[in-house]
Amino acid sequence: MAFFETLYQELIGFLGIGQLIEMYQTGNYKALLTLNGIFSVISPVIPFLLLLEIVRALVYKKFKIEDYKMPFLIFVINRFISRFISIAAVAFCIGVLEKYALIGTTLKWYWFIYGYVVWEFSHFIYHYFGHKVRLFWCLHSTHHAPQTMNLSVTYAHFFLEAPYADVIRTSICILLGVNPPLLFIIMFIDGTWGSFIHVGENLIKDGRLGFLNRIVLTPSHHRVHHAKNPLYMDTNFCNLLNIWDKVFGTFQQEKKDMVIEYGISREMNPGNFWDVYFGELYCLWKDIRKAPGIKSKLLYIVMPPGWSHTGDHKTAKLVKQAFLQQEQH
Ligand SMILES: [Zn+2]
Ligand SMILES: [Zn+2]
Repeated sequence: MAFFETLYQELIGFLGIGQLIEMYQTGNYKALLTLNGIFSVISPVIPFLLLLEIVRALVYKKFKIEDYKMPFLIFVINRFISRFISIAAVAFCIGVLEKYALIGTTLKWYWFIYGYVVWEFSHFIYHYFGHKVRLFWCLHSTHHAPQTMNLSVTYAHFFLEAPYADVIRTSICILLGVNPPLLFIIMFIDGTWGSFIHVGENLIKDGRLGFLNRIVLTPSHHRVHHAKNPLYMDTNFCNLLNIWDKVFGTFQQEKKDMVIEYGISREMNPGNFWDVYFGELYCLWKDIRKAPGIKSKLLYIVMPPGWSHTGDHKTAKLVKQAFLQQEQH
């Protein structure tokens, strides 16, 4: 019976409905008016959209188990390791860095906007280097391995990625004065939106979301981010406000005449857990082994994916340049 009890608790946890059930059992709906109460209503949105997406795919006979299997397997594994390291990492950063904050903020609306802009900046930094430093790409590539887009992709991450992402993001935000309660509210909103932008074509075909496409980062922009088309590689690193992509020149709209090809550029097997999880680390290890001298070995770790000690680079930047030159002719 303990097995079923655990399974039940896991399901409630995944769906994010624990607090709602408690409210229903105690009849204390006043909690809905608190911030926690609002979170408890929003939390189940993504898991339920994911279920809806699967049901729709089933109805339209487009459901393929391969599209969901790997993200779920990874979710289950991460569930037990990543989350706890991540919470500890955030708490540690706050404890150590809060006294060095450059300014003080409160829960006023204008600090909320300030906090969000700072958060997006910190997210941009983490995400940009996740694509541009080979070692970090090894951690981030698990998220880019799926070759179709659907809400389960939001759960596909290497287990060490969340802790290191949270250390970078929390440190920057705390140092720039975003106070912890404000940070948690922003993390919650951003986490929910960050999941939603993985909604697949099965549920929302046109990810542009009308006029929203002009003011925020939509599923369309994030689909572009997950594409391996030369023009789309290493673009749209933001999450909700794409100001920093516009500032740093990494903003890219989805083109109507360019079909998105999801996945990473290396030959791989998206149905093989080891390849999805450790494939890039293995490739890095092979490159380091064959590189001559300590300097080129170290460069493989910090240079962008595609860098080669022979000078025959195949980085996203060069692939894109070659594509654009070809377009012009
Ligand atoms: Zn990415
Ligand atoms: Zn993503």
